[in-house]
Amino acid sequence: MFDLIVQGGTLADGRIADIGITGDTIAAVEDLSGAEAGLVIDAAGDLVAPPFVDPHFHLDATLSYGLPRINASGTLLEGIGLWGELKQIVTQDEMIERALAYCDWAVSQGLLAIRSHVDTCDDRLIGVEAMLEVRERVRPYLDLQLVAFPQDGLYRDPTARDNTIRALDMGLDVVGGIPHFERTMADGAASLRELCEIAAARGLMVDIHCDESDDPLSRHIEALVFETQRLGLQGRVAGSHLTSMHSMDNYYVSKLLPLMAEAQVAAISNPLINIVLQGRHDTYPKRRGLTRVREMQAHGITVGWGQDCVLDPWYSLGTADMLDVAFMGMHVAQMTSPEEMARSFDMVTTQNARIMGLDGYGIAPGKTASLVVLDAGNPIEALRLRPARLAVISKGKVVSRMPREDAGLSLPGRPDTVRRRHTFG
Ligand SMILES: [Zn+2]
Repeated sequence: MFDLIVQGGTLADGRIADIGITGDTIAAVEDLSGAEAGLVIDAAGDLVAPPFVDPHFHLDATLSYGLPRINASGTLLEGIGLWGELKQIVTQDEMIERALAYCDWAVSQGLLAIRSHVDTCDDRLIGVEAMLEVRERVRPYLDLQLVAFPQDGLYRDPTARDNTIRALDMGLDVVGGIPHFERTMADGAASLRELCEIAAARGLMVDIHCDESDDPLSRHIEALVFETQRLGLQGRVAGSHLTSMHSMDNYYVSKLLPLMAEAQVAAISNPLINIVLQGRHDTYPKRRGLTRVREMQAHGITVGWGQDCVLDPWYSLGTADMLDVAFMGMHVAQMTSPEEMARSFDMVTTQNARIMGLDGYGIAPGKTASLVVLDAGNPIEALRLRPARLAVISKGKVVSRMPREDAGLSLPGRPDTVRRRHTFG
């Protein structure tokens, strides 16, 4: 007797299986014909995947688009300035409400784990307090990992260093930074040295906004890799964005990527935001600005897709759907072979979970009973359709249901409905 059976779904690897759930744990992944359950969800013909994971987001800024004004230039730097204005007027309650509303969107899309950077450049730290409260409120259904992020620069902002340490003392989970925003390259490197030392001393992970720039000489990733090796932080460090790598000298990159692989430094690419922010200073040809995703993967470096922003000072769109993120990423990175498309789906699920160090993630006996049923036949079709999440299960509980999106047709001699499913091969 199971509490819940998800019946007959197709797993990401193509296996067809029933999933038996007891409490908050997957108890069986096999043919469960004849088994009884309190609730049965029919997933025959539908994709059943582990939940989506977003390893890079800003929950303290989300859903604030237009406040107090929109980003006219569309650049990273105006966005940072605009966020500085907004920070002066936003209240803690508003921040909490927007973050909770975003988490509702996320759950409806099967996005059940988010790593969010939290700005620590505020002497009151109201954003930190707000996000700690949100982390507790959503804990029953969404894993929220919080990064102490000195948005205005660990050294460039006079109180950022002290406030970042205070925020970690208050219970933030991960150490963040922004070396390319410090005043000099040397300050950027020094900030990485100190931030990695703080992480090593506290046993924390590191996730740095690193080289989010079109400047090919922005090479802070090199220092991040060096500090990772020096302090024995292998497997616990991620570089987010890494867009300068798009423009770097190829010979230099041929030295850099093996060093990243050796230090087990992961990369998080944020394709929705970077395709609109990068190359803004170019005329034509205009650089895409995305980091070298396929090349890093060829070196065995773990690479994830992150969402970064939804309706905030930097990005005016977004839906909390990680399939939108992967869809954009595979276009910009030209990952269009069947293997690369399947890998793109894997990036917004398993690879992102690995970067965040999530325990109990995946669909197998003994894992946490969190999964999503999609109106698609396989991962590639899910990317193409970005379809309805028919059911979302978090820690054994059904937390969201959504109907299929069939259109009713009125055409002579044609079917009554259309779904746009198409399987080949
Ligand atoms: Zn970010």
